Amino acid sequence: MSQEIEHVKCLIIGSGPAGYTAAIYAARADLKPVMYTGIVPGGQLTQTTDVENFPGYPDGILGPQMMEDFKKQAERFGTQVRFGYITSVDFSGDVHRVVVDGEKTITAETVIIATGATAKWLGLDSEQKYNGFGVSACAVCDGFFFRGQDVAIVGAGDTAAEEASYLAKLANKVHMLVRRDEFRASKAMQHRVLSTPNIEIHYNTEAREILGDGQNVTAVAVSNNQTGEEKQLPITGFFVAIGHKPNTELFEGILDMDGNGYLITKPDSTQTNIAGVFACGDVQDHVYRQAVTAAGTGCMAALEAERYLAAKAHVMI
Ligand code: NDP
Repeated sequence: MSQEIEHVKCLIIGSGPAGYTAAIYAARADLKPVMYTGIVPGGQLTQTTDVENFPGYPDGILGPQMMEDFKKQAERFGTQVRFGYITSVDFSGDVHRVVVDGEKTITAETVIIATGATAKWLGLDSEQKYNGFGVSACAVCDGFFFRGQDVAIVGAGDTAAEEASYLAKLANKVHMLVRRDEFRASKAMQHRVLSTPNIEIHYNTEAREILGDGQNVTAVAVSNNQTGEEKQLPITGFFVAIGHKPNTELFEGILDMDGNGYLITKPDSTQTNIAGVFACGDVQDHVYRQAVTAAGTGCMAALEAERYLAAKAHVMI
């Protein structure tokens, strides 16, 4: 194992909109940020196609291109963007220690965590085949592309209920596939779904395969897990809303998390329970989960890191 230890003022873990926005602000504040991208450089947006709801792109932009633009902007002000995965952290001291790829140790005065969350998928081959071509895990991002069309959504939690209601305003019809005979969502959200005329709920129903013409989705094959009945629902959009998993395994037992593993930050702040460690983006937000809100909290994290360092320097004078 290499003994090399590098010291940085600001270490950013993760390279989605939150991480890159933190990097832009931190670099412009002369914190000389070093970013480790993680195994999916660019984060979740690199797995989508068109992004039409990020302000500043009037004609829309492809997700991977948008993340390239974020990267260029962060590098323009001196951010060092490095491909690598943080394998362990030690936040017990005044200066934080992280290990990259199991070999390189970095000490950091501030750490900004922007490791995001990963959408859960059903695990069907066809789901990955048509991902971005009719299959999506984000109704708010992609619902607009299915205006006036028939779509399906899988899930029965608050997210699925909220997204089904959102889709119902755009789509002609929403088929909601619920695997049990009841919802998990709160009563209020259930009521909203049940009282929306163009949402049809299919209880005890599971998606077996997403069907398409090789380019776009044309239907979903479903089966009733009680009766065994099988049928096809003609649709052009298939939305998966069965939950997200925040990428926080690394911080278990170290940082405060809620019951679902999301990092807890102080109200109106990105400050975690450890001084000098900040969290932004989807890793601490299970409500909005948008690129623009992630970018907003990335900005907050960098400003708070800068203020933390300034206050620390003042105390040491
Ligand atoms: P949840 O874990 O609450 O719900 C996931 C849903 O997906 C469940 O209904 C589950 O079914 C279903 N599901 C899981 N795996 C499969 C599968 N393989 N096939 C079919 N269905 C499947 O996740 P959410 O994202 O909905 O919510 C996460 C948290 O965020 C919750 O605490 C929620 O309350 C909160 N939230 C709050 C909102 C708000 O307050 N406005 C909005 C959105 C989320 P089953 O029920 O059978 O297990």
